[in-house]
Amino acid sequence: MSLDNNWFTETYQAEGLAFSLHLANAEKLAEKKTPFQHIEIYQTSHFGKLMVIDGCVMLTSRDNFIYHEMMTHPALFTHPRPQKVLIIGGGDCGTLNEVLKHENVQLAQQVDIDEQVTRLSEAFFPELCTRNNDPRAELHFDDGIKWVKQAPAESYDVMIVDSTDPIGPGEVLFTPQFYQHSQRILKPGGLFVQQSESPLIHTENIIKPMMNKLLKAGFADHQTLNFPLCSYPTGWWSCTLACKDQKISQFNSQSVDNRPFITHYYNSEIHRACSAMPEFFKQATQ
Ligand code: SAM
Repeated sequence: MSLDNNWFTETYQAEGLAFSLHLANAEKLAEKKTPFQHIEIYQTSHFGKLMVIDGCVMLTSRDNFIYHEMMTHPALFTHPRPQKVLIIGGGDCGTLNEVLKHENVQLAQQVDIDEQVTRLSEAFFPELCTRNNDPRAELHFDDGIKWVKQAPAESYDVMIVDSTDPIGPGEVLFTPQFYQHSQRILKPGGLFVQQSESPLIHTENIIKPMMNKLLKAGFADHQTLNFPLCSYPTGWWSCTLACKDQKISQFNSQSVDNRPFITHYYNSEIHRACSAMPEFFKQATQ
């Protein structure tokens, strides 16, 4: 990561690529070094506020809706009655905010290892935190691996893993042990979804191993969904959906079309289209 002439640049050395955002001023709005990571907040000139963790872009005000909606609505509109939802990570509360738009949801537990991510989000991304005081929301600050190990079997309808990349504290959330417990704590028919990085550069080293680990952990089926996200490396991102014990069913397009809340990216056409993956991906993962 570098800061030059008011440009924030995230460099992705492994692929020789970089992404920059112009800053409105050189001053950081906030910075916290926690026992887990280094969090920074900047004011960009065109993308609103920017949250960076350990030099990597986490979110911007301008495009986070695409990510948060795609991490939430495909799974919640595929599950026939999502009542109990677990979010691992997601400390900025954007995913929680989308989950709580669903009236079926009776309990949404968010478990992020780092309370400071949530406190900074409340201060700088208040629009993502408007539902934090919803009586159905529970915010916990703990390690996701510890949480899933301790959770009783068959506790959740949907589990969403909104984590950092598989380095640092997020690494444990990509291990076989994590997937085994995730499969165990889902109810019959339960759905799991995890952010799975870029199809262009992470198919071989992250998405394919994730699929194999999910199947080995006992998940019956998986499906990768893709969407654009200009502020993440390559501008093309994915999440991987898996079902505990059966084929992933068709989503309820009528419920999507009649949803009693506003989305800015997700709709039934997007849901149909997002599971269409390109040839190179099919060849690499079959
Ligand atoms: N959308 C982002 C991305 O893909 O870059 C992820 C955003 S969200 C802020 C990621 C969260 O994962 C962070 O708040 C971080 O604290 C949390 N996290 C990392 N490792 C974790 C762990 N082991 N248990 C729970 N939360 C974890």
